[in-house]
Amino acid sequence: MEQWNPDDKAGYLKFMGSTKAIFEKGFLELADKPFLYFTDMLKVVPDLVKMQSYLSVYRYISQFIDDEFLRRCFSFHPLLVGGNPFDSPLIYAMIHYLERAWGIHYALGGTGAIVAALGRLFEELGGKIHLQAEVEEIAVEGRQVAGIRLADGSLHRADAVVSNADVAFTYKNLIPAQFRRKYTDHKLARMKYSMSLFVIYFGTKRLYREQGLAHHNIILGERYKGLLDDIFNKQELAEDFSLYLHMPTLSDPSMAPPGCEAFYVLSPVPHLGAGIDWTTAAKVYRDAIMQFLEENYLPDLQANLIAEHYIDPLHFQNTLNSYLGSAFSFQPIFTQSAWFRPHNRSEDFDNLYFAGAGTHPGAGLPGVLSSAKIAADLIGKADNLRH
Ligand SMILES: Cc1cc2nc3c(=O)[nH]c(=O)nc-3n(C[C@H](O)[C@H](O)[C@H](O)COP(=O)(O)OP(=O)(O)OC[C@H]3O[C@@H](n4cnc5c(N)ncnc54)[C@H](O)[C@@H]3O)c2cc1C
Repeated sequence: MEQWNPDDKAGYLKFMGSTKAIFEKGFLELADKPFLYFTDMLKVVPDLVKMQSYLSVYRYISQFIDDEFLRRCFSFHPLLVGGNPFDSPLIYAMIHYLERAWGIHYALGGTGAIVAALGRLFEELGGKIHLQAEVEEIAVEGRQVAGIRLADGSLHRADAVVSNADVAFTYKNLIPAQFRRKYTDHKLARMKYSMSLFVIYFGTKRLYREQGLAHHNIILGERYKGLLDDIFNKQELAEDFSLYLHMPTLSDPSMAPPGCEAFYVLSPVPHLGAGIDWTTAAKVYRDAIMQFLEENYLPDLQANLIAEHYIDPLHFQNTLNSYLGSAFSFQPIFTQSAWFRPHNRSEDFDNLYFAGAGTHPGAGLPGVLSSAKIAADLIGKADNLRH
């Protein structure tokens, strides 16, 4: 900060001070509490007004910092949970505070190690996991759900169902329309969805240690507001991009064989509502990103590739069952947050619960784990489920 624009140092320190209060209220106090009733929302309104929650993250940071580049550096964080910094309420400014206060953590072995550890914990607690078992329908009996029907036709009855699949997908594809009062197909179509992602996972047969790269690299393009506008509002695939380049081998050599590196690079792109034909656009987009990386960060990249796999919005839609291929479910705007977000206990069915990015509090691992805690607490307190 001192090197780039010393005049902004005092403003930055003030910003950090104010985001501490937002973090304490928004994350420590509210992220793992359900917002089932409108009164839950009313209780927090005075604090939200006091904290100027109606401002966007970008407008908020602009009150403290003058330099445009620094404004970008300290406002991009809503993108990590699927939000446009120009539309996301300032509560998401706390992500920067959280990263400074608690640090940025990496699980050795990658995200798969977290998934495996959660699976082990679940089994140690007596749970049973069935893999490759696609749920095709949630069986409904009045205001209750009765269990799930798998793709093989088998019905598994249950006292309660927790859906961790995308909420919009769950309502639209797993529960027949005639049983839904709140989340009708029409309402789901009118809601706003976060952007999708284009992600290239790749490995190289040489090391890249002299390039000054870090484990996490944010590569901002020339355009900021314009590019975000293309992604979220105009829904156009721009020729330029801003990238996140992940280089886990710097912290975790187990991610690649000796003498090799592992990377992924991601670019936020419009969701499938934009009508982009990814069957033809994907390869062109991939080539542009790899060429850019080769020219600017990773010399001779393409001659040194030994592994590569890329995914586009069609993967999010067709493989992960995410509505419109959105990577972070409902866009985190004020009217789709807290009580306004689909509840952790379904508004339509008393014993259907949600955990994951599409329910409260929202996307990202801290958010989805908080949502799981809320769902577990609600089930523990539900009268009809006490034995
Ligand atoms: C490239 C990338 C990098 C990220 N990096 C970070 C990061 O560094 N830190 C962070 O905090 N967050 C990160 N995120 C965000 C985070 O991963 C997500 O917000 C989070 O995983 C969402 O969790 P979820 O449980 O809602 O959905 P998911 O993790 O997608 O889980 C939903 C699961 O449900 C399954 N499913 C769907 N339909 C059915 C069905 N009918 N039957 C059975 N199963 C079904 C899907 O296959 C999927 O496995 C990243 C996301 C991406 C894409």
